[in-house]
Amino acid sequence: MASLGHVAVGAAAARLWCEPADSWRTRLLAVVAFAGLALAPDLDVVAFALRIPYGDPFGHRGASHALLTALVLGAAVGGRTWFGKSRRRTMLFAAAVLASHGLLDTLTDGGLGVALFWPFDTTRYFAPVRPIPVAPIGAGMLSARGLYVLMVELIAFAPFWLLALWPQRRRA
Ligand SMILES: [Zn+2]
Repeated sequence: MASLGHVAVGAAAARLWCEPADSWRTRLLAVVAFAGLALAPDLDVVAFALRIPYGDPFGHRGASHALLTALVLGAAVGGRTWFGKSRRRTMLFAAAVLASHGLLDTLTDGGLGVALFWPFDTTRYFAPVRPIPVAPIGAGMLSARGLYVLMVELIAFAPFWLLALWPQRRRA
């Protein structure tokens, strides 16, 4: 999956995490932070440069995409208070956003599956239905195929974009 769908989920989560009284600065930082968390598991593409095979537990879509990793990193992010929000709230949102990445990747139609249950089970999983076209990796995104994937994600994730961008109603 390309980055757009993940960013949409992160931005929508930021919207829900914020409260009506939050400043635009807090909102903006929340969007950047949650979009970053939503994308973070794909930092594992560095594995290709390190010559770690795709199918290795530490290869792309391996340990970094596991649900347990999402839980541990989510707990770490929520280990301190951010913008006065309860730690439990931040922990829950961060873990959910991180977990959403691996789960969404199982919906893509190419590459290897996701090691959702690492380290207990290193099987790579796909969802029974896989409607999202897989993105070309790296510079391959700058191609007709890359553009097609971005368009599909823009449309498929419309509900998340709407939730993230819907104008905030001012409280009287
Ligand atoms: Zn991924």
